[in-house]
Amino acid sequence: MDDWQRSLRGALRKPEEIARKFGLDVEEVRRIAKTFKIQITPYYAGLIKERGDAMWRQMVPDPAELRTGSGVADPLEEDHDSPVPSIVHRYPDRCLFLVSHSCASYCRFCTRKRKVGDPSKIHPRYIEDGLAYIRAHGEIRDVIVSGGDPLMLSDRRLEAVIKGVRAVPHVEIIRVGTRVPCVLPQRVTEKLAAMLKKYHPLYVNVHFNHPDELTPEATRALGLLADAGIPLGNQTVLLKGVNDDPLVMRRLMQRLLAARVRPYYIYQADYVSGTEHLRTTVEKGLEIMEALRGWTSGLAVPYYCIDAPGGGGKIPVLPKYIQSITDERVVLRNYAGELFVYPQVKAKPKRKPRPAAAPCYSLEA
Ligand SMILES: *Cc1c(COP(=O)(O)O)cnc(C)c1O
Ligand code: SF4
Repeated sequence: MDDWQRSLRGALRKPEEIARKFGLDVEEVRRIAKTFKIQITPYYAGLIKERGDAMWRQMVPDPAELRTGSGVADPLEEDHDSPVPSIVHRYPDRCLFLVSHSCASYCRFCTRKRKVGDPSKIHPRYIEDGLAYIRAHGEIRDVIVSGGDPLMLSDRRLEAVIKGVRAVPHVEIIRVGTRVPCVLPQRVTEKLAAMLKKYHPLYVNVHFNHPDELTPEATRALGLLADAGIPLGNQTVLLKGVNDDPLVMRRLMQRLLAARVRPYYIYQADYVSGTEHLRTTVEKGLEIMEALRGWTSGLAVPYYCIDAPGGGGKIPVLPKYIQSITDERVVLRNYAGELFVYPQVKAKPKRKPRPAAAPCYSLEA
């Protein structure tokens, strides 16, 4: 057994243990555990400094999760875009490939709260079906290996999956989405990095939500992956009481860059049942984006997206930088709130009417 597997064995998961460790009512924890999976790695539990802090809010169960009345089980309607259980195919040229049902720690805000930790929802036998689907769909040039957390698989099983995807001639890039460098950094070993390196071009997308998660251990894990030539991106979920503060978010983005990770997305928290206490307003997200752009390195500025309920996909949301736009001039506002004028090109052909619907970029080159 590897070190990380031993560490995972020692994860907090029994309601009695959790209640004792965090001073919670055991009956309450038992009730939550009936609906939502609970698990916290000893490493991540060690990052919690006090009751209700950013790390606590992400992982320690809260009775508010059982409050009904808002949120839905599958807000993104991923099930509608699942031709086989392990595939979510929503966009023209890329798909998610769900290869593991488990995670090292279970985030209280998880969009797939209904699926994670339940082996019947993401089963190993679906992996073969997923590979067959990818093989049969020549338009898929980008496969996002996800879950659960794909790094919960042993090196051997993970390699079998990645090798299978890499063997499909029309797949150009592979992405691995994982929270493991944040919650179980011991899992990232020289051996793992050497294995992943064989399947380039391969990207790894990690998930950090607070600057205090970038510990020396996490930074070491990220460095190993970067040294293997793997471009690293990060996604962050905007969460109340965790990172809904422009200064915390700026620090997080800067620390990611220092660990050689390029911030990719900030997501508005999804409308998932059991997560209302962690959601913020969209205005808060816009305020944070305003506090990033211009005030720090452009590399530290990710896209802010809302994954539209009902299956619309990720929609980027931007602060309003165009004040007005006419045939003559565009009035722009910069990051500091000052106005500037950009003159439009003079010899203009007749204005085309705006298209009623969104443009369609077909797959044909
Ligand atoms: C997020 C996501 C992708 C990847 O989107 P990118 O914008 O290319 O990173 C692909 N498929 C689904 C279903 C997704 O949710
Ligand atoms: S690691 Fe990702 S999939 Fe797993 S519980 Fe957290 S948010 Fe959900």
